[in-house]
Amino acid sequence: MIFEPEVEMMDRDELVELQSARLREMVSRVYQRVPFMRARLDDIGVKPSDIRGVSDLWRLPITRKSDLRDTYPFGLFAKDKSDLLRIHASSGTTGKPTVVGYTSADLEVFGKVCARALAGGGAQPGMLLHNAYGYGLFTGGLGLHQGGETLGMVVVPVSTGMTERQVKLIMDFGAEVLCCTPSYALTIALEFAKQGIAPGEIPLRYALVGAEPWTETMRAEIDSRLGLRTVNIYGLSEIIGPGVSFECTEERHGSHINEDHFLAEIVDPETGALLPDGEEGVLVITTLTKEALPLIRYWTGDVTSLDRAKCSCGRTLARMAMVKGRTDDMLIVKGINVYPSQIEAAFGGVRGLSPYYRLLVDRSGTLDQLEVEAELSEEVFREVTADFLSDEIIEADQLLRQIREDAQQAIRENVGISARVTLLEPQRLPRSDGGKAQRVVDKRKVLVS
Ligand SMILES: [Zn+2]
Repeated sequence: MIFEPEVEMMDRDELVELQSARLREMVSRVYQRVPFMRARLDDIGVKPSDIRGVSDLWRLPITRKSDLRDTYPFGLFAKDKSDLLRIHASSGTTGKPTVVGYTSADLEVFGKVCARALAGGGAQPGMLLHNAYGYGLFTGGLGLHQGGETLGMVVVPVSTGMTERQVKLIMDFGAEVLCCTPSYALTIALEFAKQGIAPGEIPLRYALVGAEPWTETMRAEIDSRLGLRTVNIYGLSEIIGPGVSFECTEERHGSHINEDHFLAEIVDPETGALLPDGEEGVLVITTLTKEALPLIRYWTGDVTSLDRAKCSCGRTLARMAMVKGRTDDMLIVKGINVYPSQIEAAFGGVRGLSPYYRLLVDRSGTLDQLEVEAELSEEVFREVTADFLSDEIIEADQLLRQIREDAQQAIRENVGISARVTLLEPQRLPRSDGGKAQRVVDKRKVLVS
């Protein structure tokens, strides 16, 4: 189902015209109302009248997360605080949180883009949405809540945590659609298995997951363990929250960007130069309709590529590839760029591993060392334990050696780096409350010259 076919299937020339008109209006509004941005545009000698359309986007300066922090809390807002209906903020574990605001019109857009995403993921009016995203300052919970209501769904605002209860409510209420982070979807799946409920008995039919990078390996796991179809939903609070882009169930190959509201570019992470479609770089987004916090060319830090070919679902909205990682999550080990998701993708081809892993980077002398801790799958762990119990220690040992060698070879082949793999029993790595896994521990000390 397509929630707003008149825009989601719009002719691309018409779409660019709409984007250009909205961009002109947005830039002049920001210039008038946000002194910080006016000063920045004056500095580089750009006037709002210089921006005639999308093709002039490159003239505008990049906005970064640090600009939001430097103007904390409301310095980039284009509306008075009293004109807002809601404020969200990042958790801000270090330093100042990032604060975002919404007017009534912004909230309406938020609800609609999340409704488009839910519809793209298979949801329909009347279906029951089990929303296990965190409610609170984080945009995930309330965003999809409103999206579900906008689409006409029955929303259960269960939020995250207390996994046993999640399973009970899904079964008792007959939830058909699940929303949460991909790692929490797997945590819920494990709880179903623990309670002896088979995938075929679970009423869920569709899952929309996001808010952290994930891979096709995890998709296959979630699909088979919960017996449903999983699609990606992408967003970030600075732009609006979830609903910036979403996958359709037809293709599940790239997330359709809601381009009538969010203008996307891919730029070179080093030079900032615009990259052509298909090439990988950093996603930069300009909000076209946001009233409270309009952002010009916001550097998301997410590494992806764009595809503007028409999709088999009928949508003409451009698709962005699954986010490979964030420029700030990227590790440089022995001079090689390593994204945690590459390790996960490499492990996808190794029998016996679960999608939970952790990278430990250390330095011995001047040499970087990469260790990867990987959890065994439940099945293989049971097999190994059974071997040990029946005194077939050699068989168990051989199996574990084989998995470790396969994992190390997969990393060498896929990432181009040698790493030591340590196998762990299932459930051994720490999980945070929302199931969001900590993927990297960098123990290298900064060398003082
Ligand atoms: Zn599609």
